[in-house]
Amino acid sequence: EENHIPEGRVINTLEFARKSKSVEFSEIDQKRCMYLVEHLNFWYPDTAWHIVSQMEVDFHVSADQTKHVKSLMEQNGMHYEILFQNLQEDIEKQLNKRDAAGRYSYTKYNEWHKISAWTTRIVKKNPNLVSRIQIGSTFENRPMHVLKRGTEKAIFIDCGIHAREWISPAFCQWFLKEATTTYGKDENMTNILDNMNFYILPVFNIDGYIWSWTQDRFWRKNRSNTSNSACIGVDLNRNFDVAWGIYCGSSPESEQETKVVTAFIRSRISSIKAYLTMHSYSQMVLFPYGYTYEKTPNHDELNELAKRATEAIGSLYGKKYKYGTSATTIYPSSGCSDDWAYNQGIKYSFTFELRDKGRYGFLLPESQIKSTCQETMLAVKLIANYILSQT
Ligand SMILES: [Zn+2]
Repeated sequence: EENHIPEGRVINTLEFARKSKSVEFSEIDQKRCMYLVEHLNFWYPDTAWHIVSQMEVDFHVSADQTKHVKSLMEQNGMHYEILFQNLQEDIEKQLNKRDAAGRYSYTKYNEWHKISAWTTRIVKKNPNLVSRIQIGSTFENRPMHVLKRGTEKAIFIDCGIHAREWISPAFCQWFLKEATTTYGKDENMTNILDNMNFYILPVFNIDGYIWSWTQDRFWRKNRSNTSNSACIGVDLNRNFDVAWGIYCGSSPESEQETKVVTAFIRSRISSIKAYLTMHSYSQMVLFPYGYTYEKTPNHDELNELAKRATEAIGSLYGKKYKYGTSATTIYPSSGCSDDWAYNQGIKYSFTFELRDKGRYGFLLPESQIKSTCQETMLAVKLIANYILSQT
């Protein structure tokens, strides 16, 4: 574990952080700062790298370091709030509520083997609505399936690029449940499904997802060990071949999972009109670019559509979502799937950051799965309707 952050990066982080007003790292000597960077597990932003002035930062810290980190923050006049007094206890609560053989449920977080069995079942139950295509395998050789509903125009939706964001796969499952149970009953859904094909990848990062259930609840990356012998896992949402940067794998699309998905999308590029990728947390609807502050050719259209999507989300339970380009709304990052999809020619490319805004973060309670999925459905349907009206 020790020193997994290369020296150059730590120094850079220090310089970066010094510019910040709210987080005055300048008072902390370099040794202490290195200590912080190495011992904090960042939830938001996803690394210390992205901390900028006036930003609220969420992180977790192991119990034995808590006292030290608290006193460091107090010494430096940083305000903080403790959201989980005992994170382990809250993780276990979520895990223990279910009996081991517990049944699959749309309003629970499902383990991978249950999701996998569900993909078989939903195809069997709805043979004229849904089919399943194996698009490849993960690093650990688990089959990756896309669920499909067919016509010419298509929307590709992936969930679970980042392992710890459990609400994301929950949404993909919810989407298919809604599609299959309301087809023929709900006029709008029927119209959408009659005219639009959906490719759904319920869990992009299956290996990482399983790891987050069994070993480390806050695991983010995949489980490959090919890029750097000292370091397991590559952040798949930095591995796409677009303005590809550092710490994103050994090369663009170095990762098995990324290769599989990009090959699939490329092979159907003429029919795919929209690319939606589901993440959590922070309540945002984002669109390209992430790697540059430059605007896309259809920026105004994307901005308007994102605005309407956030309004649709808010109309159900009043949840406030931000919208805008990734670079201006969160922070610039390279190698992201939405930028890649956009540059392949998919004009409507969106990243959703689902609930919440940090109260529970990745431990969003299961009691919020249903409402989160319901409000997100409104945005996805809105985007689908818009595309149907345009093409
Ligand atoms: Zn994510």
